[in-house]
Amino acid sequence: EKNGRIGGDESRIHVFVRLRPMAKKEKEAGSRCCVKIVNKKDRLKGRHFSFDASFPDSTTQHEVYTTTTAELVEEVLQGRNGSVFCYGATGAGKTYTMLGTLENPGVMVLAIKDLFTSIRQRSFDGNHVVQLSYLEVYNETVRDLLSPGRPLVLREDKQGIVAAGITQYRAYSTDEVMALLQRGNQNRTTEPTRANETSSRSHAILQVVVEYRVKDALMNIVNRVGKLSLIDLAGSERALATDQRTLRSLEGANINRSLLALSSCINALVEGKKHIPYRNSKLTQLLKDSLGGACNTVMIANISPSNLSFGETQNTLHWAYRAK
Ligand code: ADP
Ligand code: MG
Repeated sequence: EKNGRIGGDESRIHVFVRLRPMAKKEKEAGSRCCVKIVNKKDRLKGRHFSFDASFPDSTTQHEVYTTTTAELVEEVLQGRNGSVFCYGATGAGKTYTMLGTLENPGVMVLAIKDLFTSIRQRSFDGNHVVQLSYLEVYNETVRDLLSPGRPLVLREDKQGIVAAGITQYRAYSTDEVMALLQRGNQNRTTEPTRANETSSRSHAILQVVVEYRVKDALMNIVNRVGKLSLIDLAGSERALATDQRTLRSLEGANINRSLLALSSCINALVEGKKHIPYRNSKLTQLLKDSLGGACNTVMIANISPSNLSFGETQNTLHWAYRAK
């Protein structure tokens, strides 16, 4: 079921679900499909949740991008910040949705492509500057994925909270972007035991900043900035089990502090609270100016169809349903 984004409703979070195809491994393990996407009109049996839209496993990367993110890209060009998150258990399809492959590029790549197309359509004076930064939050340490090295320190300046010394890649076209992001993704932290696999505790954040000049009502030329953050979150499997407990009691437990803090912020936003606890983690500090308030926020919950992942799928859907 689908709702338009038209009509104000300032800090609503738009929540989508994407079901991925059954994997070969899951088939070989004899697993069955335990998820069905239906229309609201249909009669519902069993446990069900409803979302802004739900994408069946046949949905293309393009459809996912168009429905979830295209409008945010347009609004970044009007100076409105936005963020898109992929949430779900490890293996549920977050990285596929965000980064994708060369043949099937994901939301990050399609957003940048669209951004350049829009910029070309609206100005011929080279007025817009597009800067990309790609960073990782892993165990509350921030690293530059475009230029790996020492951990970065977060600092507050006029622009909000920034990672001091982060690479600001000035992009001129989409051609370089996929390669750049793939290289960045290879720089994500891996667990020593699984050297080639990205750690399930790693968050990857692509920030796209567009700076441009406009004439204000008095015909003065003013600078405007719009920022879009696209986030491939850490696997939700460990955080889910303990979601209800306080952060404090979890500190020793090697639980993903940033993921829990994000949950707290989203709950506070949904409940209309005045105080949003951004300060509780590196991830939420980095996203402070792109989450809630006058920003567009989109959540894509990724799930596997297999009954072997039933528990994780149910947890993911519960979490996403609460974010609405
Ligand atoms: P996550 O990042 O959530 O751990 P991945 O994005 O790496 O999960 O997806 C796990 C596997 O499933 C990968 O091999 C990926 O290519 C595949 N996959 C995920 N989503 C889709 C999809 N919509 N269509 C085809 N393959 C997918
Ligand atoms: Mg991944």
